[in-house]
Amino acid sequence: MLDAQRILKTATKVKLDDIKSGKVLSVHDKPNLKYAWDNGVAIGRYLAELKNGRIIGKRCNSCKRVLVPPRMFCELCWRPTDDWEFVQDTGTILTCVVSHVNWDASRVKKGQRYHTPAVIELDGAGKDQEAMLHIDEIEPYDIKIGMRVKAVWKEPEERIGAITDIKYFKVIG
Ligand SMILES: [Zn+2]
Repeated sequence: MLDAQRILKTATKVKLDDIKSGKVLSVHDKPNLKYAWDNGVAIGRYLAELKNGRIIGKRCNSCKRVLVPPRMFCELCWRPTDDWEFVQDTGTILTCVVSHVNWDASRVKKGQRYHTPAVIELDGAGKDQEAMLHIDEIEPYDIKIGMRVKAVWKEPEERIGAITDIKYFKVIG
């Protein structure tokens, strides 16, 4: 008989009552885990400017695009990007969907507003540099491709340096 088999044959099973009554030593612990997330240079500046109520990108002097969100390299030209550049908080709806599903994948309840995530081309950013945000203050099925929109920002004291500092985009024309 192998040692492991002998141990298993002679082992005593631990019952839940043994643990509950303290007959068996056990330890309960809640680890205090903390971590930090480094946004990096480009996204760090982007988030800081959102807190200031501005949208910043990074220009690539080779392809003439302004990358939003900013990146330190241009994936098309395969080279470092150049200057920081602010873009407008206005833009054009490139596409939009009316979602009957909540952000947590549950079904939107009757009477609850449908969600309307959209792809918006921001003024001043290059072609195919779209922000994906949602539209509000309009009936979902009235949204049309090509509509002009503007960001609705949180109040300055409510901003935390996150994309949610922009509450949504509203149609302006
Ligand atoms: Zn480029």
